[in-house]
Amino acid sequence: MIFCWDIGGTAVKFGLCDRQGTLYAKDEKSVSSDHYETPLLDKVLREARVFLGAFSDISIEGIGISATGQIDTRTGTVIGTNGKIPGWEGSCLKQSAEEVFGVPAFAINDANAAVLGECFAGRAKGRKNVVMVTLGTGVGGGLVLDGRPYGGAKGIAGELGHFTLYADGPECTCGKRGCYENYASTTALIRKCREVTGNILTGREIFERAREGDTRLLQAIDGWISDIAHGLTGLVHIFNPEMVLIGGGVSAQEELLMAPLRDRVLHTVMPRFAEGLEIERAILGNDAGMIGAAKWFMEKEKE
Ligand SMILES: [Zn+2]
Repeated sequence: MIFCWDIGGTAVKFGLCDRQGTLYAKDEKSVSSDHYETPLLDKVLREARVFLGAFSDISIEGIGISATGQIDTRTGTVIGTNGKIPGWEGSCLKQSAEEVFGVPAFAINDANAAVLGECFAGRAKGRKNVVMVTLGTGVGGGLVLDGRPYGGAKGIAGELGHFTLYADGPECTCGKRGCYENYASTTALIRKCREVTGNILTGREIFERAREGDTRLLQAIDGWISDIAHGLTGLVHIFNPEMVLIGGGVSAQEELLMAPLRDRVLHTVMPRFAEGLEIERAILGNDAGMIGAAKWFMEKEKE
């Protein structure tokens, strides 16, 4: 059994995963309750011991770690966080996990883990070239190319939320301007809808009212999808994927998001790129990071 962790900024998930990508047990714990007074890694290690304590009859072959931030996959160290989580940068995930549990451990960024999980046991099973874009408060991304997660020189590639869509756009959390995330995130949709209605609506409310025929919201959604599609078109031209996966809760909106998005991208990309291209919703949800982390362990242990 592979012990898999998915470390986020507010919670950590633990699971036991077999070599076919099935999760047998899982749990989630808050890690931000004291505003990071206890360093995130200390909390994770403590909770990991507690979780595993309940499975003393199961032998652990190794640990796969999916984690927020920029993770150097060669060393299993957090090398960047954009300052979001105090004390997280510099955390040696691989080394600490190996010291505490006495088995090999490997770490990967959570967005790359999610797309790897989807390719292993989710919607992109069997695909070798997949671009995943997760639409949430921000925009996350991950790449599997030629069957392997693509990490670039330091293992931190795939920041798909932070390429410039409009050079004159608003300032982004990364310090640049007009990043894709500022237009394609659900935060961007909520902002657009506030501009036309004067109200702050949740994503769910926006889609509910649009479905009831609110034309202002339908137009706002249309503009949002247009921006998402622009970015995806560029990504398709760069990577020539077999599948573009859309993650995030909003991807459940088939009629109001996925269908028009699919239509737009398939008609905008150069014809050869559209042949066989699938644009689908990710299906593993909150389990994607854990399953991807288990797969990452299986990939790395062979090296
Ligand atoms: Zn940015």
